[in-house]
Amino acid sequence: MTRRWTFRAYPTETQAEHLAKTFGCCRLVYNGMLAARTAAFQHGERLTYAGTSAKLTVLKKDPELAFLNDVSCVPLQQSLRHLQTAFVNFFATRSAYPTFKKKNKTRDSAEYTRNGFRFNRASQRLTLAKLGVLELQVSRRVEVDPSTVTVTRHPSGRYYVSMVLEVASLSTKRVTTGCAIGIDFGLSRLATLSTGETIPNPRHLTQKSALLARAQRRLSGKQRGSNRYRAQHRRVARLHEQIADARRDSLHKLSTSLVRRFDTIFVEDLHLRGLVQNHHLARALSDASIGTAISMIEVKAEAAGVSVVTIDRWFPSSKQCSACGYLLDRLSLSVRHWTCPPCGTTHDRDINAARNILAVGQTVSARGGGVSAVRTSVRKAGRLRSVNHPGTKPATAP
Ligand SMILES: [Zn+2]
Repeated sequence: MTRRWTFRAYPTETQAEHLAKTFGCCRLVYNGMLAARTAAFQHGERLTYAGTSAKLTVLKKDPELAFLNDVSCVPLQQSLRHLQTAFVNFFATRSAYPTFKKKNKTRDSAEYTRNGFRFNRASQRLTLAKLGVLELQVSRRVEVDPSTVTVTRHPSGRYYVSMVLEVASLSTKRVTTGCAIGIDFGLSRLATLSTGETIPNPRHLTQKSALLARAQRRLSGKQRGSNRYRAQHRRVARLHEQIADARRDSLHKLSTSLVRRFDTIFVEDLHLRGLVQNHHLARALSDASIGTAISMIEVKAEAAGVSVVTIDRWFPSSKQCSACGYLLDRLSLSVRHWTCPPCGTTHDRDINAARNILAVGQTVSARGGGVSAVRTSVRKAGRLRSVNHPGTKPATAP
């Protein structure tokens, strides 16, 4: 299976300058060719990938653009490929029309294919074309040759290197447990299991979220484009990243334990939860982490031979009594506990929901319909995007 492993990178000052130049050139090539393709499109012509590639060769000979030759040609060529993919996705109506890449707004990245880097497996050292050896924090040994290597600079100023690797299936003889579980992901808790276990949100996240809210208020008071704005923007980005790191850490622990303990895992389809418009930062962050949690569980489950089943149809998981099936008319979000009128069972809102997810999952998968283990990655990307950019309002999340 193909996996992407990410490591933190520590470029020297000179390398950071070179990378900034590379990112800039990639952006210039991407935006320039996007403009050219758009112009051709408007004149009823078609500019293909090969066409942009030829144009790039011409551009490099332009004395005013001579700086394009200072950086490795591999990431520039990859930018054209990325643009091509963006157009293919657009024509297949999978995504919107490609947009220009903005400086300082998003992550900068440069992708190197095999002819643009060298990875020494013995010393675990990465050498990039025209840059030299880039210092990495290799947290686990890379035993295969990466097919591509991407250097990314986050708005917080951190650098990462991600490698695409073909790794062997990790199925280390997992003992089947014969157990199934329903999970309800939520805002007040990280997750609630149908067994009645609750996994709380790590406490430091709430503190960090409060700091983030304050930092963001301060950012809105600064003059756009000013030095103070930029400094504050960086602070906001750093907080976003710390929150994401802490969340990811707890989600890794959760997903690992779930995959170890259960043979079948039932989760609710995120898409349907998203129907509720959210206007709160905490909510948007929580939604994004649910997406991350589900994909982590899926990745680990695939390797271990555990099945993850997404319940892709809407059902009133919170409002229905898991003991007798009675359906409440309404249940406001603030109500954490309720008692079922006919059978008198007292429910914890989330545990009840998790039990319903398990029950529905088991019934429907026994019948063999209505559930699917397939999840489109497009949706995930869209959700994550809404929180990764500190400049955009989470309320506009798709
Ligand atoms: Zn009941």
